[in-house]
This record gives sequence, structure tokens and C-alpha cells, in this order.
Amino acid sequence: MEIICSPGVMAAWADKVRREGRTICLVPTMGFFHAGHLALMRRAGEVADEVVVSLFVNPMQFGVGEDLARYPRAFERDTELAGATGVAVLFAPTPEDVYPEGFRTTVSVSGLTETLCGLSRPGHFDGVTTVVAKLFHMVKPHLAVFGAKDFQQLAVIRKMVADLNWDVNIIGHPIVREKDGLAMSSRNTYLSAAEREKALCLSRSLQLARERVAAGEKDAARLRGEIRQYITSNGDVDVDYVAIVDAETLASCDEISDGSLLALAVKIGRTRLIDNTLLAGA
Ligand code: AMP
Repeated sequence: MEIICSPGVMAAWADKVRREGRTICLVPTMGFFHAGHLALMRRAGEVADEVVVSLFVNPMQFGVGEDLARYPRAFERDTELAGATGVAVLFAPTPEDVYPEGFRTTVSVSGLTETLCGLSRPGHFDGVTTVVAKLFHMVKPHLAVFGAKDFQQLAVIRKMVADLNWDVNIIGHPIVREKDGLAMSSRNTYLSAAEREKALCLSRSLQLARERVAAGEKDAARLRGEIRQYITSNGDVDVDYVAIVDAETLASCDEISDGSLLALAVKIGRTRLIDNTLLAGA
């Protein structure tokens, strides 16, 4: 596996691969790889000739007071894991390379970004779309894989690509979970043993919701109330949102139908966790 840090070298590599008629799939990440990241990389290997994984802890998508400085990093270990997964290039630019002095441009998708995570993380999705747009120009992929754990990010990226007529095929990958149901996340490393136990209320509440819907529940407000109650009964947790939305438009649903998605953001101690599930029509 090649490690490339310079955007110019990355673009030259991509030009050469494209000239040779081979396809590139990009997996954008912030590193500290877990089995979820590795599953995305394997999926990328199934759909393209060459896999590029970007590793960039993007300052632009962190708000003031968020965890940019303490975000977990393990470059050596990440290199070994990506290499063992058949990745061709690990692209790890510096913040100065991505945002040189005088950088002034923001890519912003309106409508989908002001709700849900966008409410408590203003500016977050502008940071995501801006860096993904830049990565697409540097890596020149034919395809890119994103995880459904960050369902709002996936919807926003799909919208950006459609709105800008971008010739990149966006592939969503299902959520990868620990054996006990906790959605894998680099941020799980922040959790103490007691918090880790409490965090199971997220995936368990999704299971409860799927059971209710299978038993005929269609009223979104009633189900949201029940799920919020279930989560808060775990004691010291802080619910950011419990929402039932259309998976594509992110519009709030009154009635649960095909394509309805239940999404949660919950703070366990200082750690904000997200999770989601399709409720029907999966
Ligand atoms: P991150 O490094 O957290 O920015 O994540 C990089 C990519 O991996 C994003 O597309 C995430 O949605 C995806 N991802 C992170 N955790 C998971 C997971 N548990 N299952 C599936 N995809 C994931």
C-alpha cells in the first residue's frame, strides 16, 4: 500500500490510473479504524479496481468546544489495517494542504443540513461537504463508499453529488455493530466501562421500535415518545434528538411507512453517540 500525503501526488496517481482505464473507489475517513471502516474498504474493493482511503481529521467539521484536539489517532495501526484490507493508497493530507492560507470557499447543501445533527452541530455539514468535495477533486474517484451510521451525512452527500452533476457513484454501507449491538464508532473509545454499558440503550431502543412497528404501530409521535422514555429510563443520559424521518428527504414523518427511519443522538457522559434504523420497507 502506498501512503500519499501531497494532494498533487494524489491527483497525478489518480490521472495515471484513469488513463490506464482502471476505476477508483474512495472511502473517506477520519482514521482510528474499526471493523466498520474495514467493511467499507472491502466493499470498495468489490466495486472498483483500486481503493483509496483518505485519512483526514477535518478541522472544518468540528465546532467550538467539540473533540477535535482529543479525537483518537493511531496512524501506524491504521496503516497496517488498511494495508491488510487490500487498499492501494492511504491518502493522508495535512490540514495546511487541505486548507492553505487564504482558503475561502464553502460547499453547502441547504435544507437537509439544518435539522437533526445540524441543529446541535451548526456548520458541521458544511465542513463535511467542503472536505468531501475537495477529496473528490484530489482523488478523482468513480465511486465512493459512506456508512449508513452517519445517515444524514450520506443523504447530504448524495444531494451534493446530484445537485452538482458530479460523476461519482455514492454507495451506502449498512451499519456495522459490536456483538452486543453497539454501533461501531471511533468515539466509543471515550466511553468508560459503565458508559459503554449505558450506551447499549441506543441499539436496544432501535430493536424495541422495530418490534413495535412489526406489531402494527404507525403513529410516529407515540413511538418517538416511547423510545425517548426508554432511553431516559437508563438514568444519566442526555437525549439530543429522537426523530422519525424519511430516509431520503429527512422530512419528519407523522405516520410510519416504507422508508421511515428512526434516528437518535444521545450524549452518554461527554460522548455524543448516534444510531439509526429503517423502521419499515427495509
Ligand atoms: P469516520 O472515520 O467516523 O468519519 O467514518 C468514516 C466512514 O465510516 C463514514 O462514511 C462513516 O459513516 C463510516 N462508519 C463509521 N462507523 C461505521 C459503522 N459502525 N458502520 C458503518 N459505517 C461506519
